[in-house]
Amino acid sequence: MFPEPIQKFIEIFSKLPSIGQRQATRLAFYLTRRPELNQNLNSSLTALAQDLKICQQCFLPFKRNGVDLCPICHNKEREQKIICLVEKEIDAFSIEKTREFKGTYHILGNLIDPSDPKSYESLKIDWLEKRIKNFPDKTAEEIIIALNPTTDGDLTAMYLERRLKNLSKKMTRLGRGLPTGGELEFADEETIKGSFEGRH
Ligand SMILES: [Zn+2]
Repeated sequence: MFPEPIQKFIEIFSKLPSIGQRQATRLAFYLTRRPELNQNLNSSLTALAQDLKICQQCFLPFKRNGVDLCPICHNKEREQKIICLVEKEIDAFSIEKTREFKGTYHILGNLIDPSDPKSYESLKIDWLEKRIKNFPDKTAEEIIIALNPTTDGDLTAMYLERRLKNLSKKMTRLGRGLPTGGELEFADEETIKGSFEGRH
């Protein structure tokens, strides 16, 4: 079989999303021929593990700088009482790119999977409720549900609407524009901007 370091690399890298055994094996041999790339990969993996922190309020990752909140939650000019709920970190960054949104985020981490009762808990809604109850009037100004228009996305949105309706003056969902089944992550800035403006 392969030398042990290669075997070990394959074992770990094949666990990554969209990389299977075959790709991991190819990568391993490619990297053995490219020691300089190997070095850079090494330091960027270390940086991912050591220089990032997860925001204690919205769960967005940010560069570690001695504070507990990400630059968005930390920014006094961002409207703390307008909260946009997204599935993944990358969705929040896609929305940030449009520079239209002046509120804050809450990263759910995943969507509801009807066959997995644990998926309800993993949305960290208790955290969000606590966060809103800390506002002086214990109510958010607006909660925007910005989930992908998929079956699970719609199911999750309906659950969130029911669960949070008494905690916000306004509850909106992104307007049309994102193709059905399409992903926020891959939508262009204009499309995201349009569906934000068309929220209802
Ligand atoms: Zn944050």
